[in-house]
Amino acid sequence: MWRNVETAPADSILGLTEAFKNDTNPEKVNLGVGVYKDEGGKTPVLQCVKAAEKILLEKEETKSYLPITGDPLYASEVQKLLFGEDSEVVSTGRAVTAHAPGGTGALRVGAELLKKFNPDAKVWISSPTWANHKGVFSAAGFELAEYSYYDAATKSLDFDGMVESLNKVPAGDIVLLHTCCHNPSGVDLNEAQWKNIAEIGKERGWIPFLDFAYQGFGESVESDRCGVVAFAATGVDFFVASSFSKNFGLYNERTGAITVVAPNAEDGAVAMSHLKTSVRVIYSNPPAHGGLVVATILADAELKKQWLQELSGMCDRIKEMRSALVDGLASRGVEGDFSYITSQRGMFSFSGLSDDVVKWLRDNRSIYVVGGGRINLAGLTRANIDYVCDSIAEALK
Ligand code: PMP
Repeated sequence: MWRNVETAPADSILGLTEAFKNDTNPEKVNLGVGVYKDEGGKTPVLQCVKAAEKILLEKEETKSYLPITGDPLYASEVQKLLFGEDSEVVSTGRAVTAHAPGGTGALRVGAELLKKFNPDAKVWISSPTWANHKGVFSAAGFELAEYSYYDAATKSLDFDGMVESLNKVPAGDIVLLHTCCHNPSGVDLNEAQWKNIAEIGKERGWIPFLDFAYQGFGESVESDRCGVVAFAATGVDFFVASSFSKNFGLYNERTGAITVVAPNAEDGAVAMSHLKTSVRVIYSNPPAHGGLVVATILADAELKKQWLQELSGMCDRIKEMRSALVDGLASRGVEGDFSYITSQRGMFSFSGLSDDVVKWLRDNRSIYVVGGGRINLAGLTRANIDYVCDSIAEALK
């Protein structure tokens, strides 16, 4: 069967992790895959997660299947986190939520649902975007198109270009938007800009699909949701794919959610019925553990407080590394203004390093950066920052 089949290319980001693992240089640094690392270079299990797991271990009585859409407490806690406790989206019941295996699973389930009812739509993705967006939506059978987003010259948001592109998207097409901590650029919209984009969506009649993989990694859980709130205020249908991989450190528990927001609860119930049929034929029902951990934490005031503290600890460390990188390059006399690195948000920065420099860093210094120059700031620590700054300075000489 495979004799005449060409080997598929390795995943551009996960393939880099493989190469990193096989590198024997003790000074190697992985600035590739989007996983948080602490000051010791480890991806820790949060203390609130450990505490919730202890509770679950004692309480657990069965490993029987969850409902198709997952634990109901999980769905309700997800909605409160996405929209805010007092949101009318939650109280009116016009949003429906299913636990999906990670943000990726949520994107794929949402894509399947859209394909059923909107088979001829195009999916508009930001230029640039997370590589897997293209994979997920093409695999669901959609044709892709790009809208302007990042201005490489100013290393900031090309808002005028974005508005111009989104004003041309035909009604019924799907627009995939990163709600915060844009991957790979780290460049986000502010609240007023989100309101503007949501109004364009309403006027033009395209379908917003919000990818919310980093809630709390930008400014805070509340302010990071301003894009979601802006679309909720318009009353139009939209989709949200969310993930607890990063903000709860639950990467391998595949804990995400697909939320469909309809104009009213009756439409929401119809959406939910189809969400169930989509899930049933893909993975039948979700894995339990991660969802139960998240629901246990969010439904308990003390554990939730602990989570928020741990989350801001992760963000503060990343912000500190952003400043350390900018200062480290400046103190080595590297030409150019790198201050944009401190205004970008989330785990990533588009460093502006060329593919040649990225290759040089990997071949000569065992520093792994994704092609295109995306750096995961969480891979930097006080122990490796000088090595990384020295290496970049040398590469740019
Ligand atoms: N969307 C974006 C923009 C992401 O960066 C990621 C993770 N890298 C995901 C979705 C998927 O998250 P998960 O690991 O939960 O599938």
